[in-house]
Amino acid sequence: MKTSGHTCPVCAYPNLREPARSASGGGSYEICPSCGFQFGVDDDDKGIAFEEARTAWLAGGARWSGKGVPMPKGWNGRKQLQAAEGEGTGQVTRPASARSRSRRTRS
Ligand SMILES: [Zn+2]
Repeated sequence: MKTSGHTCPVCAYPNLREPARSASGGGSYEICPSCGFQFGVDDDDKGIAFEEARTAWLAGGARWSGKGVPMPKGWNGRKQLQAAEGEGTGQVTRPASARSRSRRTRS
């Protein structure tokens, strides 16, 4: 498995081109193709916390934002997040409110 990418602190997308935030604390201005969060803008300028963005993203169905990147085959936002949690990276913590939420049904 390729590990050259950087993990999104919001949705655990593993293939960001740059680290979400540099060591000096600046945002990368990269838009996560998975959750659509833009580091340095949504967090710094808009004051949205990663946890907050994650909750909103999950509430909206954990959809692929598709900012310039086609959705990977078989991609599933919730599974992506769960897999990251399973690895115990400590980077992603899911709020308790999202834990009991059932899968969105599509009709
Ligand atoms: Zn993301």
